Amino acid sequence: MMRLPWFRWHAPRSVAEAAKILAGEGPQAMLIAGGTDLVPNMKRRHQEPAALVALRGVEGLKKIANGAGLTLGAGLTLTEVVEARQVREHYGALYQAAAQVATPHLRNMGTLGGNVCLDTRCTYYNQSYEWRRAIDFCMKKDGATCWVATASKRCVAVSSTDTAPALIALGAKVRLASAGGARELDLADLYNNDGMAYLTRRPDEILTEIVLPPAAGWKSAYWKLRRRGAFDFPVLGVAAAVRAAPDGTVEDARIVLGAVASRPIVAKAGELLAGKRLTDDVIEEVAAKVASRAKPMDNTDLEIYWRKEVVPAFVGYALREVRGDDMRATRMRIARQAL
Ligand SMILES: Cc1cc2nc3c(=O)[nH]c(=O)nc-3n(C[C@H](O)[C@H](O)[C@H](O)COP(=O)(O)OP(=O)(O)OC[C@H]3O[C@@H](n4cnc5c(N)ncnc54)[C@H](O)[C@@H]3O)c2cc1C
Ligand code: SF4
Repeated sequence: MMRLPWFRWHAPRSVAEAAKILAGEGPQAMLIAGGTDLVPNMKRRHQEPAALVALRGVEGLKKIANGAGLTLGAGLTLTEVVEARQVREHYGALYQAAAQVATPHLRNMGTLGGNVCLDTRCTYYNQSYEWRRAIDFCMKKDGATCWVATASKRCVAVSSTDTAPALIALGAKVRLASAGGARELDLADLYNNDGMAYLTRRPDEILTEIVLPPAAGWKSAYWKLRRRGAFDFPVLGVAAAVRAAPDGTVEDARIVLGAVASRPIVAKAGELLAGKRLTDDVIEEVAAKVASRAKPMDNTDLEIYWRKEVVPAFVGYALREVRGDDMRATRMRIARQAL
């Protein structure tokens, strides 16, 4: 049986109280929301925080607010996100991404904030302590070498969050709070292309809210490649959001790739698509260009060359769905669920 290491436990009731505790504990403390990623990680000694600051009792993180767009509290569970009418009706890519995270049980516990801040993953890292010790550990924890790219000075563990590519495609911003104040930034800027320092968030900061702009005129979709339809982390995620004029001419577009680098990769879809209609030829051309940004490494499930090869097809699925094609049969084949 894998046991948790010892840690101090704090259960604040407000963001201000949590921020004060975090500041007092210093960088050895970690936030815990649903714990669906952090607890297994702690059991495998990936993370060994001296103290945990639990966010489940912070009601202020569980709000959904309509404004000019939609504000989602970081403490909402993924089930609550999936069940929110505003998300389902107006932010399709987020609905489809959140609905494909893990299993119903994990979505009942796991939060949106925890998903956005999810640790990066790698075949040589997501193993038990004993397994990792047998290979002399790796650079991300306890070792010195990257076993995926032995000459690399940087860890290339994979960003494996489903919701982040969708949220970035939807133009999301995030709000962070600390004892020193609050700040807002584009969600895309929360990420570094570095498997170890994958977030630009400071250790004393709490992700409090995700702010989505108005969805009027936009349509979006998220497509995920994974081995099993029942549950699996993404080995490719494609989120597309397009705003088109009534005659179908694209005015603005965003395409974001997940699970092909240590951060979600933003393609310059606006430049590629603006002024064009989503014809089959345009979709094929844009899909090929966007796919060239994907540089998957050999450290996740499924064969690396095949994973690279299928990127244009997944970009095409997302754009066709946004165009209004009936993609239900393809979705059932790929995702094994109707979304
Ligand atoms: C079997 C299994 C399958 C899974 N499949 C998927 C999948 O398909 N797709 C996917 O995306 N994920 C998957 N997950 C991972 C996980 O369940 C989800 O990502 C979940 O949303 C994490 O949320 P949480 O609240 O449980 O995060 P936690 O485990 O509590 O925290 C995760 C990280 O986020 C940080 N954190 C949490 N909340 C905040 C906050 N408000 N501010 C700042 N930092 C914060 C924590 O410190 C920690 O570093 C899977 C997990 C398991 C066990
Ligand atoms: S990419 Fe390299 S350093 Fe990073 S977790 Fe994998 S083996 Fe370790």
